[in-house]
Amino acid sequence: MKRELGIARCGLACCLCSENVECNGCGSNGCPYHESCENKKCSITKELTHCYKCEENCRKGLLSKIKPYTFTLFAKKYGEKKLLDCLERNEKDGVMYHRNGINGDYDDFDDVEQLMKFILTGER
Ligand code: SF4
Ligand code: SF4
Repeated sequence: MKRELGIARCGLACCLCSENVECNGCGSNGCPYHESCENKKCSITKELTHCYKCEENCRKGLLSKIKPYTFTLFAKKYGEKKLLDCLERNEKDGVMYHRNGINGDYDDFDDVEQLMKFILTGER
């Protein structure tokens, strides 16, 4: 885990991403989505560093997907540090952020509350 890369504006975990080894996180323009990214454009316009700092319950862009949406809700509820702590512990316990391409163990959910619990406890 590259903890210093933190959590992206949209809620994706740059610190665990395997998509682009050259990328230094959401702010570096290394993300494959950055040119068209609604979450990046919108949060910059609102002068917010992250969607988790936004008061809207929004499903725009990457927030239409359960992983970044739930990570965003988790960071809203518990803070980014707690999210990083849980992701770090889960990684040590064998949870894979990316297993097949950009899909991994956190994508294997269709219920937000169950994914929140999995992040928090590492248990299904
Ligand atoms: S999808 Fe957008 S907000 Fe998310 S990491 Fe990429 S550029 Fe950043
Ligand atoms: S409105 Fe949506 S995309 Fe824009 S900053 Fe808020 S949560 Fe992010």
